[in-house]
Amino acid sequence: MTNRPEDYQKAIDFHGHCCPGLTIGYLAAKTALNHLKVERAADEELVAIVESDGCGIDAVQVLLGCTIGKGNLIYKDHGKQAYTIGNRRTGQAVRVVVTGGAVPLTPEQEALRNEVFNGQASPEQDAAWHKLQSERTARLLTTPPEEIFKIQDIELKLPPEAKIFNSVICAYCGEKVMEARARLKNGKIACLACTEEYNRGW
Ligand SMILES: [Zn+2]
Ligand SMILES: [Zn+2]
Repeated sequence: MTNRPEDYQKAIDFHGHCCPGLTIGYLAAKTALNHLKVERAADEELVAIVESDGCGIDAVQVLLGCTIGKGNLIYKDHGKQAYTIGNRRTGQAVRVVVTGGAVPLTPEQEALRNEVFNGQASPEQDAAWHKLQSERTARLLTTPPEEIFKIQDIELKLPPEAKIFNSVICAYCGEKVMEARARLKNGKIACLACTEEYNRGW
């Protein structure tokens, strides 16, 4: 597709490829900006709470200026395609939930996807998959947002302000760890990695 909007192209460049997931995130971010009647996150006035960690989150970071590093991107591992965007200045927030838009893959298309993801696709199959993905993406871009999302006004409930914690040294790996994240293992200070707790790193 040529003549992509500039912000969409920026999101694609950041993400590394163009895909339906990124496009959903792009449309969700645009929908939220329109709904909140803000142009774009100047700095930290916008906050995004996302409930899954798929491709779409990269579009949220680019379009809304919400990032983990700035502390205005909050990830909740709920496994939902839901984006809550709030304006700290006004307290106004909108929750945009994906309810439609995606046309399910046919069994043949699913088989094709599996071949591609397993790295076993022929060049023809590869091309067919990419063609299909760009058709699905193009369809999303021309679908009215109300047909893709449930859009709700909500009250913005922000997590408590970030605090500064002391650091302590893990007795097992010798690395510094925030006191509030430290554990005890056999009576000695241990970091989470050394206590072998499983998590995704969030
Ligand atoms: Zn992607
Ligand atoms: Zn450690």
